[in-house]
Amino acid sequence: MESLITKAARHLAESSYAIALTGAGMSTESGIPDFRGPQGVWTKNPEAERRAYLGWQRFQADPKGWWEERLAASTSALGNLVERQPNAGHYALAELEKMGIIKCLVTQNVDGLHEKAGQQHLMEYHGSFAKLRCIECNARFRRDAFDLQDLLQKGQLPPICPSCGGIIKSDGVGFGEPIPSDVAQGSLEEAWKCDMMLICGTSAVVYPFANLPRVARQRGIATIVEVNAEPTPLTHEGISDFIIQGKTGEVLPAIVEEVKRLRQ
Ligand code: NAD
Repeated sequence: MESLITKAARHLAESSYAIALTGAGMSTESGIPDFRGPQGVWTKNPEAERRAYLGWQRFQADPKGWWEERLAASTSALGNLVERQPNAGHYALAELEKMGIIKCLVTQNVDGLHEKAGQQHLMEYHGSFAKLRCIECNARFRRDAFDLQDLLQKGQLPPICPSCGGIIKSDGVGFGEPIPSDVAQGSLEEAWKCDMMLICGTSAVVYPFANLPRVARQRGIATIVEVNAEPTPLTHEGISDFIIQGKTGEVLPAIVEEVKRLRQ
Protein backbone atom coordinates (compact mmCIF):
# COMPACT_ATOMS: atom_id res chain seq x y z
CA MET A 1 0.00 0.00 0.00
CA GLU A 2 1.17 3.54 -0.81
CA SER A 3 2.63 5.25 2.29
CA LEU A 4 1.17 8.58 3.37
CA ILE A 5 4.49 10.27 2.57
CA THR A 6 4.42 8.90 -0.99
CA LYS A 7 0.77 9.88 -1.30
CA ALA A 8 1.50 13.47 -0.21
CA ALA A 9 4.51 13.61 -2.56
CA ARG A 10 2.41 12.38 -5.46
CA HIS A 11 -0.28 15.02 -4.86
CA LEU A 12 2.44 17.69 -4.70
CA ALA A 13 4.15 16.46 -7.86
CA GLU A 14 0.83 16.36 -9.73
CA SER A 15 -0.44 19.72 -8.46
CA SER A 16 -0.42 22.83 -10.57
CA TYR A 17 -0.80 25.33 -7.71
CA ALA A 18 0.32 24.06 -4.30
CA ILE A 19 0.52 26.30 -1.25
CA ALA A 20 1.73 25.68 2.30
CA LEU A 21 0.29 26.94 5.58
CA THR A 22 2.49 26.75 8.65
CA GLY A 23 2.33 27.30 12.41
CA ALA A 24 4.43 27.25 15.53
CA GLY A 25 5.04 23.47 15.34
CA MET A 26 7.37 24.15 12.38
CA SER A 27 9.81 25.89 14.68
CA THR A 28 9.84 23.76 17.84
CA GLU A 29 12.75 21.80 16.33
CA SER A 30 14.58 25.14 16.05
CA GLY A 31 14.21 25.57 19.82
CA ILE A 32 11.20 27.94 19.78
CA PRO A 33 8.31 26.71 21.94
CA ASP A 34 4.81 26.56 20.43
CA PHE A 35 1.78 27.80 22.41
CA ARG A 36 -0.51 24.79 22.65
CA GLY A 37 1.65 21.70 22.15
CA PRO A 38 2.46 19.59 25.26
CA GLN A 39 5.47 21.87 26.06
CA GLY A 40 3.71 25.03 24.82
CA VAL A 41 4.12 28.43 26.48
CA TRP A 42 0.40 28.63 27.25
CA THR A 43 -0.03 24.95 28.09
CA LYS A 44 2.49 25.59 30.88
CA ASN A 45 1.35 29.13 31.75
CA PRO A 46 -2.36 29.87 31.09
CA GLU A 47 -1.98 33.31 32.74
CA ALA A 48 0.36 34.36 29.91
CA GLU A 49 -2.42 33.52 27.45
CA ARG A 50 -4.89 35.71 29.35
CA ARG A 51 -2.44 38.64 29.27
CA ALA A 52 -1.77 38.17 25.56
CA TYR A 53 -5.47 38.65 24.83
CA LEU A 54 -5.32 42.16 26.31
CA GLY A 55 -2.39 43.42 24.19
CA TRP A 56 -4.27 44.96 21.27
CA GLN A 57 -6.81 46.70 23.54
CA ARG A 58 -3.94 48.13 25.52
CA PHE A 59 -2.20 49.40 22.37
CA GLN A 60 -5.34 51.10 21.09
CA ALA A 61 -6.00 52.77 24.43
CA ASP A 62 -2.44 54.01 24.94
CA PRO A 63 0.14 53.43 22.16
CA LYS A 64 2.82 55.42 24.00
CA GLY A 65 2.38 53.39 27.22
CA TRP A 66 2.30 50.15 25.22
CA TRP A 67 5.62 51.00 23.56
CA GLU A 68 7.19 52.02 26.87
CA GLU A 69 6.18 48.70 28.43
CA ARG A 70 7.44 46.83 25.37
CA LEU A 71 10.85 48.45 25.47
CA ALA A 72 11.16 47.91 29.23
CA ALA A 73 10.38 44.16 29.00
CA SER A 74 13.63 42.23 28.98
CA THR A 75 12.33 38.90 27.72
CA SER A 76 9.85 37.58 25.19
CA ALA A 77 7.76 34.44 25.74
CA LEU A 78 9.45 32.89 22.69
CA GLY A 79 13.04 33.61 23.84
CA ASN A 80 15.69 35.31 21.73
CA LEU A 81 14.41 34.83 18.19
CA VAL A 82 17.38 36.60 16.57
CA GLU A 83 19.61 33.62 17.33
CA ARG A 84 17.28 30.90 16.07
CA GLN A 85 18.00 29.08 12.82
CA PRO A 86 15.73 27.26 10.37
CA ASN A 87 15.50 23.47 10.66
CA ALA A 88 15.20 20.74 8.04
CA GLY A 89 11.43 21.35 7.75
CA HIS A 90 11.88 25.02 6.76
CA TYR A 91 14.53 24.07 4.20
CA ALA A 92 12.30 21.34 2.76
CA LEU A 93 9.48 23.83 2.10
CA ALA A 94 11.96 26.28 0.54
CA GLU A 95 13.20 23.46 -1.68
CA LEU A 96 9.65 22.61 -2.80
CA GLU A 97 9.32 26.26 -3.81
CA LYS A 98 12.62 26.16 -5.76
CA MET A 99 11.35 23.03 -7.53
CA GLY A 100 8.39 25.12 -8.72
CA ILE A 101 5.84 23.16 -6.67
CA ILE A 102 4.93 25.41 -3.75
CA LYS A 103 3.77 28.76 -5.12
CA CYS A 104 3.10 30.54 -1.83
CA LEU A 105 3.62 29.95 1.87
CA VAL A 106 1.36 31.56 4.47
CA THR A 107 2.82 31.34 7.97
CA GLN A 108 1.43 32.22 11.37
CA ASN A 109 4.94 32.31 12.71
CA VAL A 110 6.57 35.56 13.71
CA ASP A 111 10.08 34.10 13.95
CA GLY A 112 11.33 34.91 10.42
CA LEU A 113 12.71 31.37 9.90
CA HIS A 114 11.00 30.74 6.55
CA GLU A 115 12.62 33.89 5.19
CA LYS A 116 15.99 32.81 6.61
CA ALA A 117 15.56 29.41 4.92
CA GLY A 118 15.15 31.19 1.57
CA GLN A 119 11.36 31.06 1.05
CA GLN A 120 10.58 33.76 -1.50
CA HIS A 121 6.82 33.97 -1.86
CA LEU A 122 5.89 34.35 1.78
CA MET A 123 3.00 35.91 3.67
CA GLU A 124 3.57 36.50 7.37
CA TYR A 125 -0.06 36.34 8.49
CA HIS A 126 0.66 37.38 12.08
CA GLY A 127 3.62 39.59 11.21
CA SER A 128 7.28 39.28 12.08
CA PHE A 129 9.15 40.02 15.30
CA ALA A 130 11.87 41.71 13.21
CA LYS A 131 9.56 44.28 11.63
CA LEU A 132 7.36 47.24 12.53
CA ARG A 133 4.12 48.13 10.73
CA CYS A 134 2.02 51.25 10.27
CA ILE A 135 -1.51 50.42 11.44
CA GLU A 136 -2.96 52.89 8.90
CA CYS A 137 -1.23 52.05 5.59
CA ASN A 138 0.41 48.64 6.40
CA ALA A 139 3.91 49.91 5.43
CA ARG A 140 6.49 47.54 6.97
CA PHE A 141 9.89 48.61 8.29
CA ARG A 142 12.85 46.68 9.64
CA ARG A 143 12.93 47.16 13.40
CA ASP A 144 16.29 48.97 13.19
CA ALA A 145 14.85 51.57 10.79
CA PHE A 146 13.76 53.42 13.98
CA ASP A 147 15.94 54.26 16.96
CA LEU A 148 13.33 53.19 19.50
CA GLN A 149 15.51 53.84 22.55
CA ASP A 150 16.16 57.38 21.32
CA LEU A 151 12.41 57.96 20.80
CA LEU A 152 11.83 56.61 24.32
CA GLN A 153 14.42 58.98 25.84
CA LYS A 154 12.94 61.96 23.99
CA GLY A 155 9.34 61.06 24.92
CA GLN A 156 8.49 60.73 21.21
CA LEU A 157 6.83 57.32 21.21
CA PRO A 158 4.92 55.88 19.39
CA PRO A 159 6.95 56.00 16.17
CA ILE A 160 5.13 57.75 13.33
CA CYS A 161 4.91 56.43 9.78
CA PRO A 162 7.06 58.47 7.36
CA SER A 163 4.70 57.54 4.51
CA CYS A 164 1.29 58.48 5.90
CA GLY A 165 1.71 59.85 9.44
CA GLY A 166 -0.06 56.84 11.00
CA ILE A 167 0.92 55.18 14.28
CA ILE A 168 3.52 52.42 14.11
CA LYS A 169 3.42 49.27 16.23
CA SER A 170 5.45 46.09 16.10
CA ASP A 171 4.40 43.96 13.13
CA GLY A 172 3.31 41.00 15.30
CA VAL A 173 -0.51 40.81 15.24
CA GLY A 174 -2.06 40.80 18.71
CA PHE A 175 -5.21 38.90 19.69
CA GLY A 176 -8.25 40.87 18.58
CA GLU A 177 -6.13 42.95 16.20
CA PRO A 178 -7.32 42.78 12.59
CA ILE A 179 -5.08 40.85 10.21
CA PRO A 180 -3.38 43.46 7.98
CA SER A 181 -5.68 43.82 4.96
CA ASP A 182 -3.03 43.01 2.31
CA VAL A 183 -2.20 39.66 3.93
CA ALA A 184 -5.82 38.86 4.83
CA GLN A 185 -6.93 39.36 1.23
CA GLY A 186 -3.87 37.78 -0.40
CA SER A 187 -4.04 34.59 1.68
CA LEU A 188 -7.75 34.14 0.96
CA GLU A 189 -7.03 34.38 -2.77
CA GLU A 190 -4.25 31.78 -2.43
CA ALA A 191 -6.53 29.40 -0.48
CA TRP A 192 -9.25 29.82 -3.10
CA LYS A 193 -7.07 29.06 -6.10
CA CYS A 194 -4.78 26.30 -4.79
CA ASP A 195 -5.25 22.68 -5.85
CA MET A 196 -2.98 21.34 -3.09
CA MET A 197 -2.62 22.65 0.47
CA LEU A 198 0.10 21.38 2.79
CA ILE A 199 -0.61 22.40 6.39
CA CYS A 200 2.33 22.03 8.74
CA GLY A 201 2.71 22.35 12.51
CA THR A 202 -0.46 24.19 13.45
CA SER A 203 -3.19 23.33 15.94
CA ALA A 204 -5.54 25.20 13.54
CA VAL A 205 -7.53 26.79 16.32
CA VAL A 206 -6.48 30.42 15.79
CA TYR A 207 -8.93 32.36 13.59
CA PRO A 208 -9.16 33.77 10.98
CA PHE A 209 -6.09 31.77 9.85
CA ALA A 210 -7.89 28.49 10.52
CA ASN A 211 -10.52 29.54 7.96
CA LEU A 212 -8.03 29.19 5.10
CA PRO A 213 -8.26 25.35 4.89
CA ARG A 214 -12.05 25.68 5.15
CA VAL A 215 -12.06 28.08 2.19
CA ALA A 216 -10.03 25.56 0.17
CA ARG A 217 -12.37 22.74 1.19
CA GLN A 218 -15.41 24.80 0.22
CA ARG A 219 -13.94 25.51 -3.24
CA GLY A 220 -13.52 21.76 -3.55
CA ILE A 221 -10.53 21.51 -5.88
CA ALA A 222 -7.68 21.13 -3.38
CA THR A 223 -6.17 18.07 -1.78
CA ILE A 224 -5.51 19.10 1.83
CA VAL A 225 -2.74 17.34 3.76
CA GLU A 226 -1.66 18.01 7.34
CA VAL A 227 1.77 17.29 8.80
CA ASN A 228 1.42 17.61 12.55
CA ALA A 229 2.46 15.93 15.77
CA GLU A 230 -1.17 15.37 16.75
CA PRO A 231 -4.60 15.43 15.08
CA THR A 232 -6.34 18.82 14.92
CA PRO A 233 -9.90 20.06 14.37
CA LEU A 234 -9.11 19.91 10.62
CA THR A 235 -8.46 16.19 11.01
CA HIS A 236 -11.52 15.55 13.18
CA GLU A 237 -13.90 17.54 10.96
CA GLY A 238 -12.66 15.97 7.74
CA ILE A 239 -11.39 19.30 6.37
CA SER A 240 -8.03 17.68 5.60
CA ASP A 241 -7.91 14.61 3.38
CA PHE A 242 -5.33 13.00 5.63
CA ILE A 243 -2.73 13.75 8.30
CA ILE A 244 0.86 12.57 8.43
CA GLN A 245 1.46 12.39 12.15
CA GLY A 246 5.08 13.21 12.96
CA LYS A 247 7.70 15.94 13.19
CA THR A 248 7.80 18.50 10.39
CA GLY A 249 11.62 18.42 10.50
CA GLU A 250 11.52 14.72 9.59
CA VAL A 251 8.36 14.31 7.49
CA LEU A 252 8.88 17.28 5.13
CA PRO A 253 12.42 16.31 4.02
CA ALA A 254 11.13 12.77 3.43
CA ILE A 255 8.34 14.18 1.24
CA VAL A 256 10.91 16.20 -0.77
CA GLU A 257 13.00 13.07 -1.37
CA GLU A 258 9.91 11.22 -2.54
CA VAL A 259 8.90 14.06 -4.90
CA LYS A 260 12.40 13.91 -6.42
CA ARG A 261 12.11 10.14 -6.86
CA LEU A 262 8.68 10.46 -8.52
CA ARG A 263 9.98 13.10 -10.92
CA GLN A 264 12.91 10.99 -12.14
P1 NAD B 1 0.01 26.07 18.31
O1 NAD B 1 1.00 26.21 19.42
O2 NAD B 1 -1.40 26.38 18.62
O3 NAD B 1 0.07 24.58 17.70
C1 NAD B 1 1.27 23.98 17.30
C2 NAD B 1 0.94 22.59 16.79
O4 NAD B 1 2.13 22.03 16.25
C3 NAD B 1 0.44 21.65 17.86
O5 NAD B 1 -0.64 20.88 17.35
C4 NAD B 1 1.65 20.75 18.15
O6 NAD B 1 1.29 19.45 18.57
C5 NAD B 1 2.33 20.73 16.79
N1 NAD B 1 3.77 20.49 16.81
C6 NAD B 1 4.67 20.93 17.72
N2 NAD B 1 5.92 20.60 17.33
C7 NAD B 1 5.80 19.93 16.16
C8 NAD B 1 6.73 19.34 15.26
N3 NAD B 1 8.05 19.35 15.47
N4 NAD B 1 6.25 18.75 14.13
C9 NAD B 1 4.91 18.71 13.88
N5 NAD B 1 3.98 19.25 14.70
C10 NAD B 1 4.44 19.87 15.82
O7 NAD B 1 0.56 26.96 17.12
P2 NAD B 1 -0.23 27.72 15.99
O8 NAD B 1 -1.32 26.87 15.46
O9 NAD B 1 0.80 28.26 15.07
O10 NAD B 1 -0.91 28.95 16.72
C11 NAD B 1 -0.18 29.71 17.67
C12 NAD B 1 -0.09 31.18 17.40
O11 NAD B 1 1.03 31.67 18.14
C13 NAD B 1 0.21 31.52 16.00
O12 NAD B 1 -0.67 32.50 15.68
C14 NAD B 1 1.62 32.08 15.96
O13 NAD B 1 1.59 33.39 15.44
C15 NAD B 1 2.04 32.25 17.39
N6 NAD B 1 3.34 31.58 17.71
C16 NAD B 1 4.40 31.70 16.86
C17 NAD B 1 5.58 31.08 17.16
C18 NAD B 1 6.72 31.23 16.19
O14 NAD B 1 6.79 32.23 15.48
N7 NAD B 1 7.63 30.25 16.12
C19 NAD B 1 5.70 30.31 18.31
C20 NAD B 1 4.60 30.21 19.18
C21 NAD B 1 3.41 30.85 18.85
